[in-house]
Amino acid sequence: MKIEGGCLCGSVRYEITGSLGDAANCHCSMCRREHGAAYGSYATVKPDTFRWATGAELVTVYESSPGGGRCFCSKCGSTLGAAQEGKVGWITLGTVKGDPGVRPMAHIFAGSKAPWHEIIDDLPQFEEFPPGA
Ligand SMILES: [Zn+2]
Ligand SMILES: [Zn+2]
Repeated sequence: MKIEGGCLCGSVRYEITGSLGDAANCHCSMCRREHGAAYGSYATVKPDTFRWATGAELVTVYESSPGGGRCFCSKCGSTLGAAQEGKVGWITLGTVKGDPGVRPMAHIFAGSKAPWHEIIDDLPQFEEFPPGA
């Protein structure tokens, strides 16, 4: 299975050989700011299955916490994923082309959610990370 995705301007594209792991909607203040939205939807990816197919030179990594960075296209600003120690370990579900094959399983950091947003689905909600994550 191959998963492809990319940014708004089309300069940066990525490929994943394999399937995605767990996905969640993250309501933390950093994800909200990064996405400019009520929450960010991420899926985990095995770093050795991920590669930038085009536009790697345009990918900027903003270090939002020590060793952890958020990858975005420096041309159009699309948030593409998150990296740990320089390796991409999460991708944003909104940039996947077609069906990513996974669905968000939970709302995480729901304790930090935007006051103007109401969670109306039945997915489990966790104040921060789910236990054991
Ligand atoms: Zn772009
Ligand atoms: Zn978050």
